[in-house]
Amino acid sequence: MKDQLFRDILSRVAKPARYTGSELNMIKKDWEQAGVKMAFAFPDVYEVGMSHVGGKILYGLVNEKSRHLLERVFAPWPDMEAIMRAEQIPLFSLESFRPVLDFEVLGFSLQYELSITNVLNMLDLAGIPLWSRERNEAHPLVIAGGPVVFNPEPFADFFDIFIIGDGEEVLLEFLDKVETSRGLEKVEKLKRLAAIEGVYAPALYNVEYREDGILKSFEPRFAEVPARVRKRVVKDLDQAYYPDKPLVPYMEITHDRAVLEVMRGCQRGCRFCHAGIVYRPVRERSLETLESQARHQLQNTGYEEISLASLSSLDYSGIDPLLKGLVGNYGEKGIGVSLPSLRVDAFSIDLANEVQKVRKTTLTLAPEAGTQRLRDIINKNVSEEQLLDAVEAAFKSGWLSLKLYFMIGLPGEREEDLEGIIEILQKVKYIGDKYSRRPVEIRASLASFVPKAHTPFQWRPQNTMAELDSKQQFLSRRRRKRIKLSFHDRRTSYLEGVIARGDRRLAPVIYLAWQKGCKFDGWSEYFNFDNWQDAFRESEVEPEFYTGRQRPYEESFPWDFIDIGVSKEFLQEEDQKAEEGLTTADCRQEGCSDCGICLAMEVSLNIKGGNVDALEKQI
Ligand code: SF4
Repeated sequence: MKDQLFRDILSRVAKPARYTGSELNMIKKDWEQAGVKMAFAFPDVYEVGMSHVGGKILYGLVNEKSRHLLERVFAPWPDMEAIMRAEQIPLFSLESFRPVLDFEVLGFSLQYELSITNVLNMLDLAGIPLWSRERNEAHPLVIAGGPVVFNPEPFADFFDIFIIGDGEEVLLEFLDKVETSRGLEKVEKLKRLAAIEGVYAPALYNVEYREDGILKSFEPRFAEVPARVRKRVVKDLDQAYYPDKPLVPYMEITHDRAVLEVMRGCQRGCRFCHAGIVYRPVRERSLETLESQARHQLQNTGYEEISLASLSSLDYSGIDPLLKGLVGNYGEKGIGVSLPSLRVDAFSIDLANEVQKVRKTTLTLAPEAGTQRLRDIINKNVSEEQLLDAVEAAFKSGWLSLKLYFMIGLPGEREEDLEGIIEILQKVKYIGDKYSRRPVEIRASLASFVPKAHTPFQWRPQNTMAELDSKQQFLSRRRRKRIKLSFHDRRTSYLEGVIARGDRRLAPVIYLAWQKGCKFDGWSEYFNFDNWQDAFRESEVEPEFYTGRQRPYEESFPWDFIDIGVSKEFLQEEDQKAEEGLTTADCRQEGCSDCGICLAMEVSLNIKGGNVDALEKQI
């Protein structure tokens, strides 16, 4: 296959480096000597998949720390797919160029609800039956992990197994058990694997719905199968595996730099935020560990930029000494540090100034809502004063471009909240004009709020597309000069909303949408909403059932059996507090607010970076 690829095919496709493999630091293990052979599939194009930190961790973990083998597979871009189909080339891995069908496990990383059509397309290209029930012992076990699988039910009929929680905590145990379960009938194999905490095998459960469509029952089919599936958590992130030699691609990818995952989880408690709840509690890496990881990654890759990754990197308790250390150590060597997300306060701006002394590109802040009332409802603990102070500090120190993130369609939103967004943008522009001799650029990104499973807003209805459309028009009409507004596509937000709180009855819709040609749904040039609408109609599934209802607190949800550690009572209290406009403080700052996870999972907040003296000695 490799010969044919290089001889006849790569010259006919865009960006052939997507398909060549052999990148710096690639690990190719001996196929014959390896234990379980797993293909790690990212259901998007190479540039996106190669930027994903979780994939880098699992790749290094399996290949370096076990006798098993893990090779990469990405979704071929449509030009390559057309050639593969015409020439009957099956989906192949980038390490050994073997067909995916040769692997024992095929594991997908699901980062985004709409990537499911790419999953189906990749299974089809691999020659693997799409429905779990049509696969037998001879087929690879098709599994998935990632944030989306905290509600796995819309995808339950396509996968054999879901891994819930931190993948590196469970994957080696899982592969060991796959090895010792060889030769078993599929159902027996699934039962053995489902005994591992964090592993969910949907075929082992019966689901019933009431006449009104609401979940009636969700029960294991066998006595030994657990009724609830508890997520897996890395308790000590500092001791967890992290790759020192990440792959370095031969082409530009979305995030092309060394990455330090400074912490996992976020304790701010924004009520709309899915990741902020499901990845609780906060666990940090120590300054010593981060310094060593930075040094090794830079030595082994030649990268000239290092980025801090986490849900809220500036909340890392040792952020100040960490940044000063990195800039002090590597700044003169021309290696930059980047901060993907900033907190809305002047301290953050000082730190941003610290790392970008010379080239001040765009600064990004996320107030999320236009008034204090609505920010309190969503528990975004940021005041307008803090925001404007941050903006003033930014313009004073020479930034010329500012990007602000907002959401529309939030629970409790009124017209005054939309007016508030425009007013904030005008104030920001006024401050910019005051401090800058050149015209400043103000951009606002306006996402549509999508209620997600396991969040305090999981009971709330989502705005209809018509409501979002009228809000977008309202804002566009009030836009002022030199302020750019960009809106998320309300149709993709709507579909995301259907799937995010969906159940098993969505599988035929997804399958039909894929059959009609849907793929790369996250890419505007390929997104085809008409096909999705037709798929809903033909499957006789009413999407509004999933998005449009205010759900009562008594309702059982399809995802309730997934135990994320945070209690449903806490989520309900947070929703009620939102109704009353009351906020909840960050538990790192003002004590435990009793979300339940620390007790339930015998974990605790793990704050490691505050030891300034140690850092200054180390870095
Ligand atoms: S149990 Fe308390 S301390 Fe632990 S994450 Fe939840 S609110 Fe924070």
